[in-house]
Amino acid sequence: MVDEKRVLTPAEKAELRKKHSVCYICLQPLENYEAGEIEYDHIYNYADGYPQELSNFAPVHASDDPNKSDCHKYKGKKSPVEYREELRILKALKQITGLKDLCPKAVPSVYSIAKNSGAITINGTTLPLYNQRIGVRDNYYFFHEVEVKYIENDDEIQLRPLEPKVLPLIFNLKRSVQLLPTLGRLDAESKTIKIFDGQHKAVAQIVGNKRETIPCIVFVHPPVADIRVVIYEAHTDFVQQRYKKSHIDAKLADIYGQKIEAYRKQVGDPNALFTEVDILRGESKAEVRKFLLASVIAEIREARSFVRDYAAEDRLSQKRKPILWQSLERLIGRFCKLDAISKNSDDPENYRSEEVENVCFILDQIESLAIKGKWSADSSDSHLHKLSRTYFYKTAFNTWIEVLAEALKFAFEQKRGARIYEPICFQKEFSPETRARFIQIMQKLFEHPLWVQEPIQDEIAKANQDVVVGNVFKREGLDYIYLTKL
Ligand SMILES: [Zn+2]
Repeated sequence: MVDEKRVLTPAEKAELRKKHSVCYICLQPLENYEAGEIEYDHIYNYADGYPQELSNFAPVHASDDPNKSDCHKYKGKKSPVEYREELRILKALKQITGLKDLCPKAVPSVYSIAKNSGAITINGTTLPLYNQRIGVRDNYYFFHEVEVKYIENDDEIQLRPLEPKVLPLIFNLKRSVQLLPTLGRLDAESKTIKIFDGQHKAVAQIVGNKRETIPCIVFVHPPVADIRVVIYEAHTDFVQQRYKKSHIDAKLADIYGQKIEAYRKQVGDPNALFTEVDILRGESKAEVRKFLLASVIAEIREARSFVRDYAAEDRLSQKRKPILWQSLERLIGRFCKLDAISKNSDDPENYRSEEVENVCFILDQIESLAIKGKWSADSSDSHLHKLSRTYFYKTAFNTWIEVLAEALKFAFEQKRGARIYEPICFQKEFSPETRARFIQIMQKLFEHPLWVQEPIQDEIAKANQDVVVGNVFKREGLDYIYLTKL
């Protein structure tokens, strides 16, 4: 049986050197590399059952000299053909910032529309036209595999630069079908097809799969301003508001997701279990905190509309929404574990998913006790709105969140008969009894008499330091003992 990896003779190596003048992986010359600085690798992995024939071997750089290449070492467990493709893609991506670099100027399309608007003949192909009639206006579009030469970036509905997520997407689309098409519009003036959404998919197909056609939905002569509004509304991600804190958080969660994927790729198992410690190794404590905070917020967003409905992402929305972004972050920092966990995601003592459930439970109570039926930005003079407003002044929030955290911890420890060392939400999912107890505590918090007294409301509104509200609480007897007294 030929189970052993084939050892090449000097004559066979010489034959391969003659056939290949460059390194199979990086495509750079092999000149000036001694015999000992060249490895002869299986192009397709020998371990995956590919044949041992000479034609499946190729020379690659393998030098220890720091001034020379060691492609053999850097490919790791990947096959040369796989690693070569990865290098090609990385190199190609370095040269582009977006679809506009791949398709700088489209060839104008030649087209005509049937009299009854039922079909379009474009660049020699006749396609059915569909209509999304809204009110009295027709909105015609067609679907087609459009040749890359006919498309260009839509400058009027500016696409943002490529995001790092394009790299995993490229590898994904090498294995998986593309589910959603790219969106474009046929411009009446330039006669070109301008792409305004889905550029990552288009770039991934062009660069990764070298496709010459792109699946597209193309709108025929739509009003640009309307499309812009649609995009604005449909994908808030598309709006250029980079400095919004919440967008940065979403971004970090994204990067965290990529780190997981990169780790799984590195160990060669798409479903590999991982620990946060594995993923975040090498990051500073502050960075780790930021990553985890961002991913907890992203998880909450999936589970509830609380963040979208009540957390103000910028100054302008502070009038409409009760909770300051920094208050939201403070709440999560107080109730959730923002240190990396060394246990696998399916370890029974890894409570990340329970944590999200638990913190959502807390948010649900805040919503029902302090916001719903009270907060009303449209009638900002109402007593109830003023009450709700008072709960969420920064100084008030910072103070009650501490008292609440203390009270919940105290009640939880009492019930359990033991101290807890982890944040209150990083536990098994709260039992019905625990939930009932916590609701009781939160009711006492938000129904404390101090909140409805106008002089105190004014005092809190004017407070610019947490300690001022802290003193009000002390004076009025709002502390964890009050909250936990049965
Ligand atoms: Zn090389």
